[in-house]
Amino acid sequence: HTETSFGVAFLDLDHFKEVNDVHGHNAGDLLLQQAVERIKNRIRASDTAARLGGDEFILLLVDMPVQEMAARLTSILRDLSQVFTILDKPVHVSGSAGLAVFPTDGTDFDTLLKHADMAMYQAKAAGRNTIQLFNTEMATALRSKYQLESVLRSAIDSKEFSVVYQPQVDLKDGRLVGMEALLRLNSKELGVIGPDQFIPVAEDTGLIYSIGEWVLEQVGMQLAKWCALGIQDFTVAVNLSAKQFWNQNFVDKIRDLVLRHGLPAHMLELELTERIAMGDAERAIGKMQALRELGVRLSIDDFGTGYSSLAYLRWMPVNVLKIDKSFVNDIGSDPDDEIICRSIINLGLGLGLTVLAEGVETKEQANFLREAGCHLAQGYLYSRPVPPLEAQLWLRPAEIA
Ligand code: C2E
Ligand code: CA
Ligand code: CA
Repeated sequence: HTETSFGVAFLDLDHFKEVNDVHGHNAGDLLLQQAVERIKNRIRASDTAARLGGDEFILLLVDMPVQEMAARLTSILRDLSQVFTILDKPVHVSGSAGLAVFPTDGTDFDTLLKHADMAMYQAKAAGRNTIQLFNTEMATALRSKYQLESVLRSAIDSKEFSVVYQPQVDLKDGRLVGMEALLRLNSKELGVIGPDQFIPVAEDTGLIYSIGEWVLEQVGMQLAKWCALGIQDFTVAVNLSAKQFWNQNFVDKIRDLVLRHGLPAHMLELELTERIAMGDAERAIGKMQALRELGVRLSIDDFGTGYSSLAYLRWMPVNVLKIDKSFVNDIGSDPDDEIICRSIINLGLGLGLTVLAEGVETKEQANFLREAGCHLAQGYLYSRPVPPLEAQLWLRPAEIA
């Protein structure tokens, strides 16, 4: 199909907010300038690239077949994922793009733009650094960023959020050692929406501050309840966004949470992603140390997917390394991923860390991991994330029953 047409693409930089949060706005501005150059290099003079504000760009691609539009966008994303040098520091971002094409996806500019935006959000949800073509199911299935934003704004007050808990077990004996708290959104208006879809919007809009605080508060209350029942020998891990972690008051907030609920601090674990930790490793380490001094535990989430600096990892005061589920998933089918799992386990062991594999779904995966020396596992093989009362059954099956 080589018919030419014109298309509207919506392009958004992934993790750009983190660049601002970690390196400062000046660095953010420099990065945008360089990003614009890379984008311009891939389009023709007859096309248009415009910045919508923030880290959002619109591209108008004229007089070319859809395949060429997709190919150009793919090259742009590839270029954007190459390292940037900002103020002498290496900075990594990537881009997500959505494309809507005249006349199938819309016959006026506003509709095309709206649909390109929807497709872009789909691309983000699909794991970022990808392009997505608009399709009509999206219009109904995918709630636009704006709809989501308004739902998120009222979700705390209207009690549409909840926290579920997923057990983490010792691979040697199956004993429960902890749980991960995961946020759920059940909107009256839009139904159940996964965190992979709404967390990026919460981050973009700054709503993540209040949402993240709400999650910590729920976990604090829940931990206090469990402690009151005499259940104390486990940890609850909470996911953190970059913004939350870099927020000036974050350490004080955690101190306050622990004191207010009278928690044994070691029962609270905070999960940071490699990206948060490695963005500005030296400052991150300082902040992590302050948290460790409170007695809370720290883990590195999704390990293996970011751009870790192994040199810095040595200096990070973390307790747990979590192997990303994408590597665990292919144990038994992809020898490369098995090698990656083994290397991460050995790295963790070498650094004296506890190693946890997430997304464990089969006995084969569990066996492989156990034999490779991995300590802990979490995944559907043991349990899906469940509401607190159900999680409680895990803690004390005999006494509760
Ligand atoms: P994550 O931290 O990597 O969380 C693990 C995800 O894997 C969860 O998805 C969990 O339900 C899923 N999972 C667990 N076991 C298995 C398995 O055996 N197989 C498969 N295929 N998946 C499994 P969920 O709950 O949809 O969360 C997605 C992501 O959203 C989380 O990824 C985390 O990055 C983010 N998130 C969730 N809750 C919060 C929160 O309170 N705050 C922040 N900032 N992010 C959150
Ligand atoms: Ca996590
Ligand atoms: Ca993870």
